[in-house]
Amino acid sequence: MRRLVLAAMLPLTALAVFSCSSIQEPVSVPTLANVTMTVRPVRVLLGVATRAEPLMVSARSDVTVLDGDGKTVRDKVSLRKTPVGFTKKAVSLGGVDWGAPAIILVPSPGDHIQVDDTVYAGEIVLVKRGESVAVVNRVSIEDYVAGVVTCEMPSRFERAALEAQAVAARTYVLWQMKQRRLLLYDVTDDTGSQVYGGITGTTGSGKLATERTSGTVLMYNWQFLPAFYFSTCGGRTVNASYLRGAPLIEPLTGVECGYCKASKRYRWAITIPGEEIEGALGQAGYITGKLLDLSVVKAIDGGWVDTVEIKSSEGVKQISGYALRQVVGTSRLYSTNFEIEKSGDKYILRGRGYGHGVGLCQWGANGMADLGHNYVDILKHYYQGAGVLKIY
Ligand SMILES: [Zn+2]
Repeated sequence: MRRLVLAAMLPLTALAVFSCSSIQEPVSVPTLANVTMTVRPVRVLLGVATRAEPLMVSARSDVTVLDGDGKTVRDKVSLRKTPVGFTKKAVSLGGVDWGAPAIILVPSPGDHIQVDDTVYAGEIVLVKRGESVAVVNRVSIEDYVAGVVTCEMPSRFERAALEAQAVAARTYVLWQMKQRRLLLYDVTDDTGSQVYGGITGTTGSGKLATERTSGTVLMYNWQFLPAFYFSTCGGRTVNASYLRGAPLIEPLTGVECGYCKASKRYRWAITIPGEEIEGALGQAGYITGKLLDLSVVKAIDGGWVDTVEIKSSEGVKQISGYALRQVVGTSRLYSTNFEIEKSGDKYILRGRGYGHGVGLCQWGANGMADLGHNYVDILKHYYQGAGVLKIY
């Protein structure tokens, strides 16, 4: 397997970033002069096949099957909605034992492999793990990014916003690839990493944004930036101490936004009956008695809730805003930037934004693009102090 080569990286502080306001031409960014950068394929975990829920693989043309070392086991293998399974020591396809705990399915030139209902570029790697088989898509980073952009951002968004999204998605996966290089896969295909829909989930605008920013990434301190992003900040992004796994570095300290007012989650309010939140807090093990009151006791960066106080018949307890959002549900309590008002036996939560609040505000990116900013302007606003560089 090829390794990610990051040789002879220049100090970013020595590089100027050139902005270009041209509508038609891609924005010009600095490149690594005379350095050939090779990036290995991304390994995306698509799912885990079990006896109860086998995943189906298929291809229009015959595929070649390789073993885990990349040697051809057999070519011209027909896959027609074939279930992925396993025997005691090996992966099986359609009940046929392949005699190896890992096999690689390589499509014919011009064809692609489908897993359940989704078509993927690249190869499909099947690895037996106990009583299951991990199904991993090994795909070029540019095909991967194209399959992420409009799964993560509406395809109707401005081109510069989609281009900023492509660079953030490319950088995020490079950061993950470095962290997880010795593990079976780099990312999952869902919100645990980045939502990835393969060729099926690739739109024309997502592909164009990927092509126009090909090889362009965010760097900080000679490293790939952990380029977190989310839907809407509601006025200010929050510093990374707020998000588990995000290092507190200059580009993730939070910025004023003011560009995301068009988002319907810029401001919101939800009402939750007291007994419902009492039940949820009880189920999560935070209270045992009756809920008497719920209030914000500490907020940072323009309203992002650090600490919530719960008064119950058993006493007083403090939990994080993050924990309360998990209890209520992340798609119901849109963000952790809120105030709490008690009204009779109900709690009214009035809030700002949607998502975890760290890094790039996607609706803000679209607002900046609407005002004529290019993707480099957008990235340098939300990730202040980071460099934008074309590495291949
Ligand atoms: Zn915003």
